[in-house]
Amino acid sequence: MKLRDLSIVRKLGLLLAFNTAIAVIAIALVFSVGTAVNRYQAAQEQLMAMANVIGENSRAALAFSDPESARKILLSLRNKLEIESARLTDSSGNEFATAIFSTAEGATKPLLEELTTLLFPDRLTVANRIQDGNNTVGGIELTAHLSNIWLDLMESLALMVLIAIALSALAVFFGLRMRRIVTDPILSLADVSHRVSRERDYSLRATKVGNDEIGALVDDFNRMLSEIEIRDEALRRERESLEERVEQRTADLKLAMETAERANKVKSEFLATVSHELRTPLTAIAGSIGLVSGGALGELPAQIHQMLLIAQKNSQRLTFLINDLLDVEKLMAGKLQFDMVCQEVMPLVEQALVANQSYAEQFGVTYTLTHRSDGVLVEVDAQRLHQVLANLLSNAAKFSDAVAQVEVSVHQYESRVRIEVRDHGAGIPIEFHSRIFQKFSQADASDTRQRGGTGLGLAISRELVERMGGTIGFHSEPGQGAIFYFELPMKPAQVETERAA
Ligand code: ADP
Repeated sequence: MKLRDLSIVRKLGLLLAFNTAIAVIAIALVFSVGTAVNRYQAAQEQLMAMANVIGENSRAALAFSDPESARKILLSLRNKLEIESARLTDSSGNEFATAIFSTAEGATKPLLEELTTLLFPDRLTVANRIQDGNNTVGGIELTAHLSNIWLDLMESLALMVLIAIALSALAVFFGLRMRRIVTDPILSLADVSHRVSRERDYSLRATKVGNDEIGALVDDFNRMLSEIEIRDEALRRERESLEERVEQRTADLKLAMETAERANKVKSEFLATVSHELRTPLTAIAGSIGLVSGGALGELPAQIHQMLLIAQKNSQRLTFLINDLLDVEKLMAGKLQFDMVCQEVMPLVEQALVANQSYAEQFGVTYTLTHRSDGVLVEVDAQRLHQVLANLLSNAAKFSDAVAQVEVSVHQYESRVRIEVRDHGAGIPIEFHSRIFQKFSQADASDTRQRGGTGLGLAISRELVERMGGTIGFHSEPGQGAIFYFELPMKPAQVETERAA
């Protein structure tokens, strides 16, 4: 585990132990170095004093050139101050007498001693001149070994280290016992924060123990919780009111929808009833006018005949309008039934051409079949397909110039058959393109328009074609006439064969 991941309690313990150990070791070092320097200086002074005394005592031996006596004097240094060797020289510097004391030289030293000789100087040598008045009669040189001093030093250092360890352990022990003063407030703060995040209960508060930094932290934490609690409450109230508003709106909307549905139903019923009620007398009127203008009551004066023709034409327009309205109504209500039968498309197109020819003649227009696709089968309601073709053919005739041709073609594209009606009239204004299939939309919607119509034909045609699984469209450029087409999915010939069987 990394140091930074340890608990605060452990970090505190480590810190205490580390600090105490550092402090004790630092004190031990200062103390030991001071002691070592003192002892070294004392040893040096003592050795020098001894050299003086021995020098004084050896002056006579030097004066009488008696090395034996001098050696005896030197030997008196045995057992003194760890002295290793003593050497007397005469006035010319030549060796006069020497005493070497047995030391442990050559014997195996303990490890600690080995170590100290590596770290510190293991010998101390002092030299002094021996004077007789102003004359130098010789010299003395004493060498002592110092390892005992260093060993003492090492021992005291080892003792210090032991004391450091003991003190550190004591510091950790007492520190951990007193940690509660520091760590308890932090741990309690952490506990409250943990509970808040787990239970999402912002009414909880941390307990403040003192006025130190942790106390300030507890204050800030509690203030933050209060703010969150207030916002939480406001949010809850807002959500509740929002839910209420949504419920209210939904209820309003439901009511509005029900009202609209009721109104729509009333409108549909009204439209159906009125159209039906209009159609019955209109059929009688149209029939009567037809009979009279056909000469059933005798020859009519030309003017009356003319007036009757106008009346006949207008009653016919009214009948168309009523039929269209009823169709639209049925389509919107989904009441229009489709009797889908798989059959050849060409006969249906040809029948439509024949049926609409007389209407086209009113405008001096002729229908021409320019391309056929015999044998192509489609699954359609023949009456509805006829209605679509009648609308496209009558529009083409109606919007063609006098004495014109309208070309009809039937093409086969992969799995579809396309029926096209092309006229050479004025075409459809660009701005009207997007609205052409909408109900009651006419490029010329003015009261003074020349051509009759309801603006419902194309809307009905699109609905019918789509219900039979096809698509409808047109191309037109102003002044270039128009091409209206619809495409139906082709049925495989096999289907027809099965039906025939
Ligand atoms: P209606 O012909 O009864 O007005 P339609 O829905 O069949 O209604 O046609 C809507 C309008 O589209 C027409 O009033 C006319 O402005 C335009 N339109 C349809 N076919 C043609 C055409 N072949 N050429 C020019 N305009 C057309």
